[in-house]
Amino acid sequence: MSTLRHGMKLSLFPLVVALAVGCSSGDGTTFGDESVAGSSEDAMTADEAALGASWNGEEADDISEADLAIASDPTGDDGPPADSLGPQSIRPLSSCTRTTGFNKGKQMSICTVTINSKAVEQGTASAFVKMRDAARRSGVDIVVVSGFRTMAKQRELYAAYKAHRGNLAAPPGYSNHQSGHALDLNTKAPGVNAWLSRNAATYGFRRTVPSENWHYEKW
Ligand SMILES: [Zn+2]
Repeated sequence: MSTLRHGMKLSLFPLVVALAVGCSSGDGTTFGDESVAGSSEDAMTADEAALGASWNGEEADDISEADLAIASDPTGDDGPPADSLGPQSIRPLSSCTRTTGFNKGKQMSICTVTINSKAVEQGTASAFVKMRDAARRSGVDIVVVSGFRTMAKQRELYAAYKAHRGNLAAPPGYSNHQSGHALDLNTKAPGVNAWLSRNAATYGFRRTVPSENWHYEKW
């Protein structure tokens, strides 16, 4: 019995080290092996890969009419417009959080920042802030309603869908919200949809789901 316990302790040791390395990369510091951060829990299983292989690419955002109609930043957590901060406006984006994302079943390392309390991939966030600030100058207030989704959250949504308790959800690893590059925006708020239709492309954002006019991606 004591031999067995000893063996288990030994086998857990590499996992503890791996988790410690994963945590220490959360400050955005680049590690040679940072692609393994979080991978012990986030990696797709063989079953999930098989589900993805036969999936047709359709999913439906589970998002409320009320969220889409949010008229202004409900959190106030991301401060004044970047253009009023001058060079300092890049400061919030320099302290991103390294995490595991997916694009069409392919695992990738991304770094996220927070906008309207939602995690967003940093390059996408930077483009969004420029776009939002331009819209504000036209009196239109764009809010991120939904952004990056973790593997754990996608597994939860997919399980709910399979149990007929939730919206159509992509298999884990295959939701376009797992990339951090997809944003749902408040297109039912005054002026937002019309402004985005005219200007989103200027900032690199485009609609990728024909039936969802709130869903934009930036790559
Ligand atoms: Zn979406």
